[in-house]
Amino acid sequence: MTPLQTPCPICNSATSLLDVVDFNKSCEEARHKFLPLAGIPVYYTLCENCGFCFAPELYEWSIAQFSQAIYNADYITIDPDYVDIRPRANAKNLQALFGKQKQHIRHLDYGGGSGLLSDLLREQHWQSQSYDPFYNSELSLDSLGKFDLITAYEVFEHVPDVKKLMADLSRLLNDEGLVLFSTLVSDGHLQKNQRLQWWYAAPRNGHISLFSKESLSLLAGNAGFTLGSFSAGFHAMWKTVPSWASHLIE
Ligand SMILES: [Zn+2]
Repeated sequence: MTPLQTPCPICNSATSLLDVVDFNKSCEEARHKFLPLAGIPVYYTLCENCGFCFAPELYEWSIAQFSQAIYNADYITIDPDYVDIRPRANAKNLQALFGKQKQHIRHLDYGGGSGLLSDLLREQHWQSQSYDPFYNSELSLDSLGKFDLITAYEVFEHVPDVKKLMADLSRLLNDEGLVLFSTLVSDGHLQKNQRLQWWYAAPRNGHISLFSKESLSLLAGNAGFTLGSFSAGFHAMWKTVPSWASHLIE
């Protein structure tokens, strides 16, 4: 079996090739900015059962390969909001949502890059910590303890092992706890026998796992979570809703 025939990592059903794109296809194409072609083909495969779409060959990459080819010095040119604008907006949003209850919340920003979001929250007296496998590779997850709130902004679509991601989140979250995360669902954007033109399907950005609503719901359910979505891009998962989040989750 070649990597391109990998069964669906979420529901284990058979998959079939959806399309091939150039490695340099980036999210900036949504703003009509195009990189020169890399000449490296990246195949995306689609699960016909749950609609999950992924790039199997990139699932085999090591952290070092991702760091060298994707999360390198040029990454900022294809994700300019990543360094400053997005963490600031997310910190403001969390403060608005839960600022009044922050004394009850131990927060982890999973995949938090350099840790700016957590720094900003700590300035406002939150108990917040950042963990990112590319920045904190020396930290073991078990040394972090348990959290009441875990945020994962623009993380899921980058992850090459989505079951391990769920196992990690499950391990890090208190039973009464909430995961808030952003990833754009693919519903209405991907279809068999149609070219993969969706801007979010972007190997250069490391977008290698593209979730349909159904695949996200299955992934969460398989790990014992309930999934709720506020929009096509912003979601929550929980086992038991903590009292400080009851105004958000009915
Ligand atoms: Zn599937």
